[in-house]
Amino acid sequence: MTDRAPQPVDRQLPTEESRDLLALVREIAQREIRPRAAEEEDSGRFPREVFTLLSEAGLLGLPYDGSFGGGEQPYEVYLQVLEELAAARLTVGLGVSVHSLACHGLAGYGSKEQQSAHLPAMLGGGLLGAYCLSEPAAGSDAASLTTKAVRDGDEWVITGTKAWITHGGVADFYTVLARTGAPGPKGITAFLVPGDVEGLTAAVPEKKMGMKGSPTAQLHFDGVRVPDSRRIGEEGQGFTIALAALDAGRLGIAACAVGVAQAALDEAVTYALDRKQFGHPIADFQGLRFMLADMATKIEAGRALYLAAARLRDARKPFSRQAAMAKLFCTDAAMSVTTDAVQILGGYGYTADFPVERLMREAKVLQIVEGTNQIQRMVIARHLAGPETR
Ligand SMILES: Cc1cc2nc3c(=O)[nH]c(=O)nc-3n(C[C@H](O)[C@H](O)[C@H](O)COP(=O)(O)OP(=O)(O)OC[C@H]3O[C@@H](n4cnc5c(N)ncnc54)[C@H](O)[C@@H]3O)c2cc1C
Repeated sequence: MTDRAPQPVDRQLPTEESRDLLALVREIAQREIRPRAAEEEDSGRFPREVFTLLSEAGLLGLPYDGSFGGGEQPYEVYLQVLEELAAARLTVGLGVSVHSLACHGLAGYGSKEQQSAHLPAMLGGGLLGAYCLSEPAAGSDAASLTTKAVRDGDEWVITGTKAWITHGGVADFYTVLARTGAPGPKGITAFLVPGDVEGLTAAVPEKKMGMKGSPTAQLHFDGVRVPDSRRIGEEGQGFTIALAALDAGRLGIAACAVGVAQAALDEAVTYALDRKQFGHPIADFQGLRFMLADMATKIEAGRALYLAAARLRDARKPFSRQAAMAKLFCTDAAMSVTTDAVQILGGYGYTADFPVERLMREAKVLQIVEGTNQIQRMVIARHLAGPETR
């Protein structure tokens, strides 16, 4: 297995502060995250202490308001941080992205009282979050969710099952979308639920193809009571809140995908320079050189696309279409680049002695989460041709 550190990516960063931030993240990734990635992904160990470390370093609230402990970084910087973390280990990069997604509702739609009560601990106080939208029978069609929240005086009583929850069972808080009204998107409300509340239990985590260190579990809400002060936004506003979070979250997935692809390319280049066949390093053969060139081009194009979308968001312009394009393109690119990396390593690429097979398994999930790539195409097409009329 190669233990060469990936070469730093030549990044466009807006300030000296952001350049220092990226250098710090690379150092943490090299020292604390990358060396344990292969072993812990194999054993399925969740690195909770890494998230505590990232919180202490101010890296769990980067894109949020400084007055509540956030890092006040533009999205173009935050996403490049995610990319570096995901290149070291997807469980960590995607975990930070999901945590950020879980903070999005309160940060964007909570009252000042709610924000000052909860955000400091969420953004920099060591807490870890999860985002609960999907259900066993409501995936792509998330607006059909059936987990119910019923008002009882000053409280809400939540009952139902959420599925596929990243950090399910290990999170300190859950942003939960539940039905409080009529069927469809307008009958959904968002809540901030503490992880240790009575009536909330997590199932045994799913046995997944990859990202085995990241727990993904069903959550059962059995008459969970939360005060009305934990309702985020208005009654019936939950789906709007959920979709706004997903627009931002999709950019996080795009950045993670570029990180995974970059890690695979770095491994492929290192190996191709070292491995000799027919008396030459295999990097001399044009068949492989062209593959490497195509891989690098897809990565650069993906990075440029997610950064363009991020800069629109930073300028407070609409970015939903571009976020869907970035998620679609970057995750498809990651699948293709990691598959090619396995090919370049030949038989060795197919073994767990090298990280590329793990990167290939990790890339797959990115085409599925936070809206499958079919759903991203639907979103993009709606921007072009309006809603479907069937
Ligand atoms: C590892 C992992 C972590 C996850 N983490 C979270 C999390 O933290 N929080 C959360 O809420 N969810 C999470 N999810 C759930 C994820 O968002 C869903 O898996 C995803 O939205 C797809 O839903 P589904 O799996 O039910 O597939 P389905 O919706 O059943 O889709 C099955 C297939 O049909 C396709 N399809 C569906 N509808 C259409 C259509 N109209 N047109 C064309 N094709 C269509 C899909 O693209 C897919 O290929 C996670 C999933 C995984 C695997």
